[in-house]
Amino acid sequence: MSDFKYDVVVVGAGNAALCAAISAREEGARVLVLEKGPEHKRGGNSFFTDGAIRVAYHHLEDIRKVMPELTDEEAANIVMPEYGEEDYLQDIMRVTEGKSGPELANQLVNRSFETLVWMKGHGVKFELNYDNQSFEKEGKREFWGGLPVKTENKGVGLMKQLFSRAEELGIDVWYEAAAVELLSVDGDVNGVVVEQNGRKIIVYASGVVLACGSFEANKQQRSQYIGEEWEAAIVRGTEYNTGDGIKMALAAGAQKHGEWSGCHSIGTDYNAPKVGDFTKPGDIFKKHSYPLSIMLNKEGKRFVDEGADFRNYTYAKYGREILKQPGHVAYQIYDSQVRPLLRKEYDLEEATYYKAETLEELVALLPVDEFEFLKTINEYNEAVQEGDYHPTEKDGKGTVGITPPKTNWALKIEEGPFYAFPVTCGITFSFGGLHVNNRGEVLNKEGNPIPGLYAAGEMIGGIFYHNYPGGSGLMSGAVFGKLAGVTAAAGLNTNTVKH
Ligand SMILES: Cc1cc2nc3c(=O)[nH]c(=O)nc-3n(C[C@H](O)[C@H](O)[C@H](O)COP(=O)(O)OP(=O)(O)OC[C@H]3O[C@@H](n4cnc5c(N)ncnc54)[C@H](O)[C@@H]3O)c2cc1C
Repeated sequence: MSDFKYDVVVVGAGNAALCAAISAREEGARVLVLEKGPEHKRGGNSFFTDGAIRVAYHHLEDIRKVMPELTDEEAANIVMPEYGEEDYLQDIMRVTEGKSGPELANQLVNRSFETLVWMKGHGVKFELNYDNQSFEKEGKREFWGGLPVKTENKGVGLMKQLFSRAEELGIDVWYEAAAVELLSVDGDVNGVVVEQNGRKIIVYASGVVLACGSFEANKQQRSQYIGEEWEAAIVRGTEYNTGDGIKMALAAGAQKHGEWSGCHSIGTDYNAPKVGDFTKPGDIFKKHSYPLSIMLNKEGKRFVDEGADFRNYTYAKYGREILKQPGHVAYQIYDSQVRPLLRKEYDLEEATYYKAETLEELVALLPVDEFEFLKTINEYNEAVQEGDYHPTEKDGKGTVGITPPKTNWALKIEEGPFYAFPVTCGITFSFGGLHVNNRGEVLNKEGNPIPGLYAAGEMIGGIFYHNYPGGSGLMSGAVFGKLAGVTAAAGLNTNTVKH
């Protein structure tokens, strides 16, 4: 075995990891980043994101600090309602049903803006999230939902800038280098064993930051912790987040934390790759217009109220419901009145769909119980109530007399051609993780920091339960990554490398 020595080793090379590496380097540490994947598959789930990043801000002028290229003329046409720390915190508490740990949630929220500015200072480029978070009103562009910021060129752009900054700062990155074990002396973590090209390498360090994702890409652990049916879920992002960091930390005495039986998931194209394809990043397989559809399973049964609410509030739980259906598949059905209203992802060449002039012809194309399928569509059509149809607001145009009901956006499926989009469930990340404090230190079973061990990103448990407010994953990675890097580097003077 060969031995190496660094001040701080960061395990993983996604957003959280590179924020940790950069902040530790800023504090003067000599830093090594370990990436399990090859160079062309670096960047983790962060690479696959849409780049939406949720930040607390008070007015457009705050946002302009990270987008200096926004002209006065453009700014004059924008309505940007305030989304302060309180709003952000409330959103986290609402979607997690009050379970998010207040210490971590407050840290995330209160540090979000300064972290965004810090990222900008390190070359990350941001732009306005016009497509998904704004609408035209009285000649102005009005933003909604507290998510006006995204990284330029999505997750691909974010990771490109972070890697280029890491290189500029002289941070070493090893590829195809999986951390497999933590080293420790008298309970103090002092390094990591790395497997690279079949060799084992020992790297000593006074701080190890784990930022290597949760266990969403590990079939066995998904099935063990979340539920048997999760073995069949599609992995929307990287194949490398198999729970290694959590496992290593638990072996070193760390405390489990958060919702181990929970994960974030969505309805995704049935033919999406089984794990994220690094040549096709950018969240292109989701199918988020289902509130305008009816969704039927293979047996021809509906199983959720598709129009219960806007998709922001239902998509995470409906992914899970699709997974429970026979064959883990459902069909979103649209007619030609609704087809032009669907989101952009339905027009991509990657989208799988069936199309036919009549409903009978359409259903004959699907591997389903044709009789029950047509019966359910007919019953639905008969249950649709009169009323004005407004796809951009909760219009209350619903059904009567069927179970489950469709509460909003119920339009008869009657004008050909007709479309069926097959969907299954894609897991985004699992919520179970480690217990860390608000400085990024990993806590042991007694609640005390394990000297020399830090964690950030997806592998922190206790922030997200049931769901997360979109855009908070990247922000959590950035905030806790930066903090963990600073804390690990600050430990340089106190944690002398023992070996
Ligand atoms: C399709 C998709 C779209 C998304 N869109 C958004 C969005 O728009 N906004 C948002 O906020 N969130 C989004 N998310 C969630 C977001 O991706 C995550 O919350 C966030 O990126 C996690 O960052 P991370 O740094 O913790 O993990 P990752 O970015 O996944 O990084 C983990 C890294 O660890 C490496 N690794 C794993 N094991 C080892 C090991 N043993 N040794 C060395 N390296 C290892 C992996 O290869 C990877 O590089 C999306 C997720 C997906 C899948």
